[in-house]
Amino acid sequence: MASSEKAWPELIAGALAEKNLKEYVCHGMWTPSGYFHIGNARVEYFVPELVYEALAAKGLKAKFNFLADDFDPMDKIPGNLPIKEKDFEQYKGVPYYNIPSPFPEYKSWASCFTGKLFEAIGDFGAVPNRISCYESYKKGLYNEKIKTALDNAQKIVGIWNEITGTEKAPNFLPIQIVCENCGKLSFTEAGNWDGKEVEYACKKESGGCGHKAKTRPFDGRAKLHWRMHWPAGWSVFNVAFESGGKDHFARGGSVDTGKAFAKEIFGMEAPLLYGAEFIQLRGAKMSGSIGNVIDLQEWLKVAKPEIFRFMNLSYRPGSAIEFSLNDNSFPLLVERYEQAERVYYGAEKLRDEGLTGTARKDYALSQMRKAQKEMPAQIPFSLQTLVAQIADPEKNIEKALEILSETSHISAGQAKGQKGEIRQQLLRAKYWLDNYAPEEMKIRFLEKAPKGLEHDSKTREVFSEIARQLPKAKTPEEIQMLIYGSAKQHELQPREIFRKLYLMTIGKEQGPKFGSLAIAIGIDKIIKRLQEI
Ligand SMILES: [Zn+2]
Repeated sequence: MASSEKAWPELIAGALAEKNLKEYVCHGMWTPSGYFHIGNARVEYFVPELVYEALAAKGLKAKFNFLADDFDPMDKIPGNLPIKEKDFEQYKGVPYYNIPSPFPEYKSWASCFTGKLFEAIGDFGAVPNRISCYESYKKGLYNEKIKTALDNAQKIVGIWNEITGTEKAPNFLPIQIVCENCGKLSFTEAGNWDGKEVEYACKKESGGCGHKAKTRPFDGRAKLHWRMHWPAGWSVFNVAFESGGKDHFARGGSVDTGKAFAKEIFGMEAPLLYGAEFIQLRGAKMSGSIGNVIDLQEWLKVAKPEIFRFMNLSYRPGSAIEFSLNDNSFPLLVERYEQAERVYYGAEKLRDEGLTGTARKDYALSQMRKAQKEMPAQIPFSLQTLVAQIADPEKNIEKALEILSETSHISAGQAKGQKGEIRQQLLRAKYWLDNYAPEEMKIRFLEKAPKGLEHDSKTREVFSEIARQLPKAKTPEEIQMLIYGSAKQHELQPREIFRKLYLMTIGKEQGPKFGSLAIAIGIDKIIKRLQEI
């Protein structure tokens, strides 16, 4: 049967299971440089989370770690924060764990953005073990890896140069020391490892303070260079699966060197690594340090988390997603989710069995709880936005429910039983309208008929007949039939009549099903509009 097809997390879990491990550690890693946005969430949270869930569903022992790389230094100051950039210029080159928080309620820059992430993540899926990179170094978890790396520095340079095609100097050490004078990590250069200590200089010409000293590079005083740091982490945490941005997978990139260092320096097999594409925001990579982001909290204001899980499930991690809240990609996603819901509950069939099976699977895996027995009330997104404008769901949910039952989108039972859920939906639709929706997607009843619409006598006759009969039509279907019938009777194209009706009422060539639209706006108003012609 088609529904036995596997979703991509299940395929990855299947490949992992062949390794026969005692425990499968799935890793996400992220630098808390700014908001954790939905693009990061795909690569650094959802891919390992969904694989972790698939492993657990197979009955395998699995663990999900999330490593906040707070030992990374600040490079750019994000543009979307309520701070003065010049107040933070001084922290460029300082690791994020040691930079003041841009918001007063957090201890540091790193704990602020990692904190915000953990405040929201439980709404989207499994809560991973929160691990601070700096704390791990400080506790000494990386000490042995640091010693190994320094003892093998020459071998590392050889591998490095061969794989990346660069020319690292023979005395290069793959480590960065935190300058004991200025606290910056970015500008130090280490040398002369004697088995216990290294010498370092905080280079003035690169932006450092000029300090020179000798130090033991352990317990949080130094961080391995990124290309060593990554595989060292696989060894420290015994990682079986990790995903990373596709850029790391480029030829000669940190995946290539990581695999080689894992094998040649740390004597281990690299985990299964999976490259994932970021989510593109109107063609640009969403970036916490630039500031063009939708973070997790913001997502929850516009849509439920299941829809985001669904988006991540329905695209393979390697394929790019073009997504924006400012155009129709958002309503289209919501509609795709609702279609998958109908397919799941057997209310719709897709073109072939394969597609049907995939939609069912993606829907089932996107649910945070076990899917309920009966299909939830479905209100088309375009109607949600319309109703939210006519009856404010915050203040007047009863009126909104009344419209929805008059348009036959919900039953009396649903109006009662799913009131909270429907209100949530309408509030989210309203938030989207108020904050993101492009002008052409907002649907409003025009207070006056637009000027310049000319109708011939036949069309005018159709309109007056519709106006006369409308009070008798009780449901959206009856209204549709009435319009269709009148048009046919006068030998006019129904499609053309509908187009004119949309233009007269909402000023657009098309819209939600006219029967529903008319009820939502109010039959009296529609009749009045038709009589104005
Ligand atoms: Zn310094």
